[in-house]
Amino acid sequence: MPNKKILNKYAHLAVEMGANVQKDQLVWINSSTETRELTRLITEYAYEAGAKEVHVNWNDAFVGKLGLANKSLETLKDVPTWLIDKFKDFTEKEGCVISVSSPFPGLNKDIDPKRLQTRSMATSKALNFFREHMMGNRSQWSIVAAPNSVWAQKVFPELETDEAIEKLWDAIFKASRVTADNDPVKEWKKHNQALLKHNNILNDHQFKTLKFKNSIGTDFTLDLVKNHVWSGGREISKNGVTFNPNIPTEENFTMPHKFGVNGKVVATKPLNYQGNLIEDFWLEFKDGKVVDYGAEKAEPSLKNLIEFDDGSSYLGEIALISYHSPISMSNTLFFNTLFDENASCHMALGRAYPMNVKNGNDMSKEELEEVGSNQSMTHVDFMFGSKDLEVIGLKENDEEVQIFKNGDYVI
Ligand code: ZN
Ligand code: ZN
Repeated sequence: MPNKKILNKYAHLAVEMGANVQKDQLVWINSSTETRELTRLITEYAYEAGAKEVHVNWNDAFVGKLGLANKSLETLKDVPTWLIDKFKDFTEKEGCVISVSSPFPGLNKDIDPKRLQTRSMATSKALNFFREHMMGNRSQWSIVAAPNSVWAQKVFPELETDEAIEKLWDAIFKASRVTADNDPVKEWKKHNQALLKHNNILNDHQFKTLKFKNSIGTDFTLDLVKNHVWSGGREISKNGVTFNPNIPTEENFTMPHKFGVNGKVVATKPLNYQGNLIEDFWLEFKDGKVVDYGAEKAEPSLKNLIEFDDGSSYLGEIALISYHSPISMSNTLFFNTLFDENASCHMALGRAYPMNVKNGNDMSKEELEEVGSNQSMTHVDFMFGSKDLEVIGLKENDEEVQIFKNGDYVI
């Protein structure tokens, strides 16, 4: 286990800067049974911050896998009313959520992809109101991470399990700006300011179109919605509380126009989806829609993602991160999107964040569709940044501005 002092700082960071737990607020923690120690500390700090009640949604990937393998298709489709009611109660009470991400990459590789799809479609559909609530920032949410043995061995296969776990903790702390002798909360305030700087520059330009190109085959144009808003770092919930949805985060992101993406994108990192690792894949877009794709590994999982629903073959996010960002320079492939997406420019298939268009959090679904915001029951990021990526912004008056040169920001 990691140094107690650092683990305490990390848990405190999740409560104070991550979710920013408010007095008398209901707190949910989503946690694996493998990450108990961190979850207990987060619980302690949440009560210290004045939480009314801390409730942990425990999950166990191995128990989950047994269910996926053994339940009938009918049962996989069934999401019980009591579970839906639990989420309804939570949204009505405007609780905040801290999720401890601890993936098991490849765990479900021998489960029939159709069974995985049936289950995730059923839960996404039944709990879509919850996704809309959280993605609309109606209350605060935050994701942090903690290792488990499967994940740690995937990241550091050359090490013994205990050593791999130790090394993964170190990498998580480093990426999250938590060290033995710093004040992480202070670091994060500074970091939020730096991210805000790029948001402001990009917002001032109000680019009509972005053009992306590199030497491995990525070559596409992407229109942004009118009055788009670049976000990144600190966000504000509907009840006016600031929070940091992702720890770590290095990205500036905004809303592509649903029908304005044309060309090919080649992924530069694997994607862990439904417990399967999709590797060496590419997508081709026409008028916003994925019209062709391929993957060297786990192509059926990529197919599951693209065919998930009407909106999952369109984009809902485009994000810029310099190639020379700290997480990228650690040269660690995390097999966890929370980290890998912050080491690389990425895009997301599925639903767009309403906040990425002016007044979006107050718009109805129809109004959002009207401005070109993609709607879907899913939102999955994947990475395509590279050290030679060029990004050019085209303004309303057709003036061109170089945004990225050789993988990094030049504005
Ligand atoms: Zn993102
Ligand atoms: Zn995303």
